[in-house]
Order: sequence, then structure tokens, then C-alpha cells
Amino acid sequence: MSDDIPFDKTLDLAPGVVEEVIPGVRRLLADNPSPFTFKGTLSYVVGRGHVAVIDPGPLDDNHIAALLDAVRGETVTHIFVTHTHRDHSPAAARIKAATGAVVLAQGPHRPARALHAGEAARLEASNDTEFKPDQALADGQIVEGSGWTIEAVATPGHTANHMAFAFKEGNLLFSGDHVMAWSTPVVAPPDGSMRDYMASLEKLRARAEPIYLPGHGGIVRDAPRFVEHYIQHRQRRDAAILQHLAKGETDIPSIVRAIYIGLDPRLVPAAGRSVLAHLEDLVARGRVASEGKPSIDAHYRLR
Ligand SMILES: [Zn+2]
Repeated sequence: MSDDIPFDKTLDLAPGVVEEVIPGVRRLLADNPSPFTFKGTLSYVVGRGHVAVIDPGPLDDNHIAALLDAVRGETVTHIFVTHTHRDHSPAAARIKAATGAVVLAQGPHRPARALHAGEAARLEASNDTEFKPDQALADGQIVEGSGWTIEAVATPGHTANHMAFAFKEGNLLFSGDHVMAWSTPVVAPPDGSMRDYMASLEKLRARAEPIYLPGHGGIVRDAPRFVEHYIQHRQRRDAAILQHLAKGETDIPSIVRAIYIGLDPRLVPAAGRSVLAHLEDLVARGRVASEGKPSIDAHYRLR
């Protein structure tokens, strides 16, 4: 389904093992593999002595213990959270309680747009709605630690509050779920927004960092070119959806069957919501009309 992107599906790391992936950055894998999380969530430790944690991860006792073990004898001064999905943010409270670190993120979880009637019930179990940062970060904000500097880079799309973090001394970007080497992320309304996601990709394409460290999977190398592949992939998906609408396929299940050949059945609902994300954007851009508000059950036609 995404054969046009040069994915790297290798990650040679066992859960609980601390590895210095790049000088000055350690990573640790949580044992929460799934079709959405690949081999699991990666937590990162930046610096030595007085360190920052990026994405403390899920509420998993073993992972939290391993993360605290990894920084034993050091001081955790900052905890950065890329976004409020349950595989990234819930451990922040426990790591904060154990270390006294300050928790920084764009903000609490929120949908990307106003909810349609009846939509609230659909809100994802994967959202961490309890999370609240101690400090809300603005786009471009610089946070200085001991021997490290982090720039907050707002990258909404996968969630409305998604942030990437540029590690200045390492000339790299912690890309969260926005850009990953193994797969594209789910972009599903109402929490996600295709329009925001594309704008965030264009923002990253213009940045210089050659290396991204994502929330799942291995290192993204030659990152600006990889981001370009991501952008082209979504543009081709737009074109495919328009083509199927032209053929008279008017509902999301038909379009999913036509586009996602051989898809893992566990991913079919997410694929439907991804097509909805594209359609929502195409409706906003005046290319497509929907009966009523764009929704998973609506019918669509070309304009
Ligand atoms: Zn996520």
C-alpha cells in the first residue's frame, strides 16, 4: 500500500535494552508491539548527567523501571512529549514523580476540529486525555538544558498537539509519529487532520536536519528526501481517491477495498479513517462534495 516510500523495517533492539543510537542520545524500546506501533514505542534520553527524556512511553511497569534504570545516577531535568497517544505520554507522570522533572508538550489532547453530531462516542481509546504538561510549548520555542538545546517544532496532523523536537547539538530531529522509517502514521479525523499533516510535512521538508529519530522503528536517514517521498505518497493517494470517485465508487468501504489490496484486516478501520482524512481535505479544497458533513458513512462525488 505504500510501496512508493523507501521504508526501512529493521530495528535491531530488544525491549529493555539501553543503546546509544547517536552520540549523546540513548534509546529504549517498550514491549508494546502492534500493527500500529511496529516493534514498540521508543523512549529517548538526551545528554549525560543532566538529561532530557523524549516520550516516556506507555504505562508499563517494566518500561518505566528500565527507563529509570537507564538514568540511574543522573538527573532527569526535562520530559518532552511528542503527542498524547497512550503509547507515548502516560508514563510522563510516573517519571516526573520519580525524578521531579518538568513535563513539556504542546498541550493536552484535543481533536483537530469541532466534532460532528454523534462523533464524540467514536473518540479513540488510544488517546491519553489525562495528560497535562507543566509547561505548554510554542512552535519554535527553545529549551536549554545542561549540554543540550531542544527546539519545539509544531507538527500537527497525526494529532492536533503533535510536536517534533530538534536536538541542536546533534543536528537531528525527534520526529515522534509524524515521520517514521517503517511506515506512514495514521491520520484519522477528528483527532488527526490531513490538511495539517501535509502542512507539517512541508515544514519539515524545508528543514536541514539529515537524521530523524522517530517514536517507532529505526533511524530516518536523508530525512528531507524521505519527507518528500511521504508528501508524494499522500498526493498519489489523493489522486487514487479522485480516480475511484470518477469511476462511481462513492463510499469509503468501496474505496478502501479498491486502494488497499491485501491489507492486514486489523488495519481496515484505520484505512477507512485515513481515506476519510483525505476526503475531508478534498471537500475543504472544493474538489469533492459530500452528502452532509464528511463522515465515515457519507457518500462522496467529484465536483
Ligand atoms: Zn501516535
